[in-house]
Amino acid sequence: MSPDPAAATAAAPAVLPVMRPWLGEEEAAAAAAAVRSGWVAQGPRVAEFERALSARLGAADTVVVSSCTAALHLAMVVAGLGPGDDVVVPSLSFIATANAVRYVGARPVFADVDPATQNVTAATIEAALTPDTRAVIAVDQGGMPLDVDPIRALCLRRGLELVQDSACAIGSTYRGRAVGGDAALAAYSFHPRKLLTTGEGGALVTNRPEWAARARRLREHGMSVSAADRHASSRIVIEDYVETGFNYRMTDVQAAIGLVQLRRLDDLIARRRTLAAVYQQALAAVPGLRVCADPPYGTSNYQSFWVELTDSFPGTRNELLEHLLRDGISARRGIMAAHREPAYDGGGDRRDSASPRAGLPVTDRLTDRTVILPLFHEMTESDVERVAGSVRAAAESTPARPGPDQSHR
Ligand SMILES: *Cc1c(COP(=O)(O)O)cnc(C)c1O
Repeated sequence: MSPDPAAATAAAPAVLPVMRPWLGEEEAAAAAAAVRSGWVAQGPRVAEFERALSARLGAADTVVVSSCTAALHLAMVVAGLGPGDDVVVPSLSFIATANAVRYVGARPVFADVDPATQNVTAATIEAALTPDTRAVIAVDQGGMPLDVDPIRALCLRRGLELVQDSACAIGSTYRGRAVGGDAALAAYSFHPRKLLTTGEGGALVTNRPEWAARARRLREHGMSVSAADRHASSRIVIEDYVETGFNYRMTDVQAAIGLVQLRRLDDLIARRRTLAAVYQQALAAVPGLRVCADPPYGTSNYQSFWVELTDSFPGTRNELLEHLLRDGISARRGIMAAHREPAYDGGGDRRDSASPRAGLPVTDRLTDRTVILPLFHEMTESDVERVAGSVRAAAESTPARPGPDQSHR
């Protein structure tokens, strides 16, 4: 539900946001129905949401949890990772990817990414392997699908577990299949910044029944019988606590919203792809700008629409962000790089995180030189044209910087 437009115009002129979830009366009614049912914690709607997600993703099983971060943590636990193990992750990702590795006492080792997709590849993962590497978390960044088949082949050859962090990539496709649906382990996010939202929420997809069963137990304090099953039983049920678990449950109020959002997913993706095509057309001729696009093997849901300012783009990333803001457009810096954050600073030979000897040159360039432009369901084609016009004007109004290296791209 959009805020009251009259109230918005009375204050400062509206700034075009970078992202706005698409929620309506149907979501509000579904949430109200869950409240009226009296069952507000994890219950029948969570179970129904799990079945609907499995069907949509072509997944063997889906365990719905309180966030994607929780799903990644559970993936690390069920994959058996712990102290002494190295897990290869991209530095160019939201911090939760690397944090999940630390939650189980393992060490994140950062891999560089491919400049075309911003994703790790079999080659960048291989360059980050250590004698202690036991697993890889590969991210479908911003909804852009990973080239996962060569990564699976590498992991199989080396005996590594592969977790797909598909937080942003619900409904993206890889060789005609839904991203993550056939993964051994894949995690999705339903945070409002993503395509499909439940407020907060996440899901873990797995093709191994024993991992699904353990993840269901771990999300609920390690209980042998779920609270919902105990409640529904007509007999006395005394539960056991089999191992140390967590409270990673989603509520039925959230799942009710998620069920409505999931029915809208194809519309959400189609709209994004239409608007992305308008951006791609309108920005094609801007000098020095490289615009994200589908890879040859799949389709993006365009959860994030990013552009890279190459060396021949006049001006810095922050100058572009300021120019856009003066034009009433809220954009964002590109994806963060975990290896440059204080929580991971040190990299190198510090025992609690590491980077390859050759460094992470593509990650460094992309995090410094990319911008995420507004893209959301209710944006109009003319909003997109306005943003593109502002980017074009920024490129034309900023004098080209003399520099030693204008040619490397
Ligand atoms: C958003 C995001 C997460 C975290 O998702 P939450 O649901 O907020 O925990 C993890 N990884 C990536 C790549 C993300 O973009």
